[in-house]
Amino acid sequence: MIFPDYHLHSEFSSDSEAKLSDIIDSARQQGLTSVCLTDHHDIDFPVEVSEERLDFQLDLPTYKLTLKKLREELAPEFDLRIGVELGVMPSTTEKARNFVKENGDLDFIIASTHIVDGMDPYYPSYFEGRSDAAGYHRYFEVILDTLRDYTDFDVYGHLDYVVRYGPGQLSTYDPSEHMEVIDEILKIIVQSGHGIEVNTGSLYKGLPMAHPHIDILKRYRALGGEIITIGSDAHIPSRVGAYFDKARSLLLEAGFTSYCTFKKRIPTFHKIP
Ligand SMILES: [Zn+2]
Ligand SMILES: [Zn+2]
Repeated sequence: MIFPDYHLHSEFSSDSEAKLSDIIDSARQQGLTSVCLTDHHDIDFPVEVSEERLDFQLDLPTYKLTLKKLREELAPEFDLRIGVELGVMPSTTEKARNFVKENGDLDFIIASTHIVDGMDPYYPSYFEGRSDAAGYHRYFEVILDTLRDYTDFDVYGHLDYVVRYGPGQLSTYDPSEHMEVIDEILKIIVQSGHGIEVNTGSLYKGLPMAHPHIDILKRYRALGGEIITIGSDAHIPSRVGAYFDKARSLLLEAGFTSYCTFKKRIPTFHKIP
């Protein structure tokens, strides 16, 4: 299934070594004619939580310059879009707004929650001393806290990403237990004119579902949600476009007839093939 991949990491991200040329080659091999790079920039990322001391700070000037040059080289056969995955926390909403203002030339901004109460759910300590469900619930609460003060993005990333790292994963995840908070999250996203993504990254990381859970996709649709992008969250070239056939069937099952691409932060709707 061919969708432009709208969630991709390259060597500009702290946690990826993927060369831009290899990402483009991989996309082309699959017949894609457009992708959007979304390298990590997590404002005030607490470096001490990462065992590898990763800082997730993006060198924006070099990133944009390199991608703009590549975009010119690839056009018109290949349409490269330039985005960022902006890691946000309730404490950094003001800085996130300024970041967006200062980078008006970006095509696309994914806002993502990676840090919860100073902890990274990627590490087992996040779930120590509490049930999986409590860890999941807190993740949703922090997204909601963030959204109450910050809606300057295009889509919110991997809404239930925390489940990827829960000791019981899907066996301890029942979205209905959290739907009150999830509803508030989705309502703010819809009312502010923004969207969410289908993120297939979990499917090749051992979790038998894409983010978010189909029940959340359906709820988003029921609340009037229309803006949706599809991304693999690939950190290596071979994962570009991974499981997009699955993303297509999830979107159709949830009642979507179109998906979005972005240029200069303006969405274009395309019929799901
Ligand atoms: Zn992310
Ligand atoms: Zn990502």
